[in-house]
Amino acid sequence: MTEKQSGPTVLIVGAGTGGLMLALLCEKGNIPYMVFEKSRALRPLGSAIALNKINHLFEQVGIMEEVEACSKSFGGLHLLDQDLYCQGSFYARAPGVSNKETYGYTSPVMARPDLIRILASRIPADKLHYNKRVIATQQDENQVTITCSDNTTYSGTILVGTDGAYSSIRQNMFKELESEGLMHSSDAEPMQSDYDCVVGVTGPMDTKDYPLLKEELCEFKIVMGKTLPMTWWFMPLVDIGLGPRVGWMITKDNTAWNKMNKGSGNSKDSSTQGSNSDWSANAAKEMCDLVKDMPCPLGGVVGDIIDKTPKEQITKVVLEDKFYHNWYHGRTVLLGDACHKMLPFGGMGASMAIMSAVALANVLYEDLPTTQEEVTKAFKEYYDERSGWGQQSVDGSRKTGYLMHKQGFVGNMIRRIGLNWIPTWLIKKGSDAYNEYRPHVVFLPFTTFTGTYQSGRTNTPSKRWLATQKESAAIAI
Ligand SMILES: Cc1cc2nc3c(=O)[nH]c(=O)nc-3n(C[C@H](O)[C@H](O)[C@H](O)COP(=O)(O)OP(=O)(O)OC[C@H]3O[C@@H](n4cnc5c(N)ncnc54)[C@H](O)[C@@H]3O)c2cc1C
Repeated sequence: MTEKQSGPTVLIVGAGTGGLMLALLCEKGNIPYMVFEKSRALRPLGSAIALNKINHLFEQVGIMEEVEACSKSFGGLHLLDQDLYCQGSFYARAPGVSNKETYGYTSPVMARPDLIRILASRIPADKLHYNKRVIATQQDENQVTITCSDNTTYSGTILVGTDGAYSSIRQNMFKELESEGLMHSSDAEPMQSDYDCVVGVTGPMDTKDYPLLKEELCEFKIVMGKTLPMTWWFMPLVDIGLGPRVGWMITKDNTAWNKMNKGSGNSKDSSTQGSNSDWSANAAKEMCDLVKDMPCPLGGVVGDIIDKTPKEQITKVVLEDKFYHNWYHGRTVLLGDACHKMLPFGGMGASMAIMSAVALANVLYEDLPTTQEEVTKAFKEYYDERSGWGQQSVDGSRKTGYLMHKQGFVGNMIRRIGLNWIPTWLIKKGSDAYNEYRPHVVFLPFTTFTGTYQSGRTNTPSKRWLATQKESAAIAI
């Protein structure tokens, strides 16, 4: 079956955070679109997701109340050693002052499945197609066509690959770039993969056994292994009914692990052999078993938290990262993990995908491009706005990962200095720089940044949108 849209249409492949946010923006801006997702239905997978610098965007698109109801504000991050002795804390703000006071907004932490559910609930069912794994793409001067594994094809004006780290849209686009001799040399290199990771979200927990879960803010507790090159993370989530849940993550530094086990015949343990191609449920148990008897900073042992997690929600993945230089070609453009896959340690993956969705929707709204020339101009504008941030976030997350996993004297010294001796003014400076530029959706009413920090830059409302606002005001009179 072939489906071709009559007017210009944006084909969005992947219903993760980036794809769903872009779809919601297209819905708000009356930009014709369709979403194609390979899963049969919403997948309730993933752990806690930290959202930074984007609350005003949730307010603009009208999901702020729901996000607030499902999230706790980030309070701080505490690095503990294996015996639960605190090595230091990081608050991403001046001590004693909340982000709300300074920047007008908090940084919510929520379960990934909750965010996906909220975004998907705003997309009309006839525009969100599940069970559509895109396997091939074809583009020419006038249109782009996708083919799904069920043999259906769809054509549109623009194809957006928001299909995650192993993007098939990227792979197809790179084949074309390669054959035309346009491929950036580093893009041909495989992603860097140094860590394995298992994530999950528990079911509702009893606060009698876990009193720390009653705390208002989400305080990350991260334990760094002494005998194992691993970390285990606990992120208290909000109570949305039966009791608070806990998002958790276990990571393993494979280079250090292999070095540690060299000669013992243990280096090729099957826990490092899992599929790196998707968030599959396989091979998680073996990694969990390595830490299950360790004390847990929320109470009891790590195994208790794992036991309280529905088995189908525990997933293992190889963590990889890479910043790609080619983001667009012809009528195809990439967004989110498809073009800037970062390690989760900086807590930036979802926020970056959402901000990129806003940047792309902004250029598409102003003048929905149709000719190849217009399309290329729009893609370049989007790339110029977002690529610097993408590179910075990939690099920053890698450095944070190093800081968290480096073992021995050097690692301990870096952490102690980094977390305990950095002066308050320097933390504030970094935090201000991070919040300095906060772009808006240019075709929806802007929010006002309250807070004591007022020098935040933003973009300007769309001329087209301002004209439509004037028109409707005139009609109303
Ligand atoms: C199941 C899962 C769990 C995650 N858990 C966490 C977590 O706990 N913490 C964290 O910080 N980050 C997590 N992430 C990553 C985080 O969601 C992303 O870094 C970030 O949100 C960027 O989003 P994205 O839209 O670029 O990609 P993603 O959110 O990864 O979404 C990509 C989507 O594309 C779909 N897709 C892939 N290939 C195809 C295809 N060929 N055809 C159609 N659809 C396709 C996938 O099924 C997925 O829904 C998770 C991602 C996934 C997919």
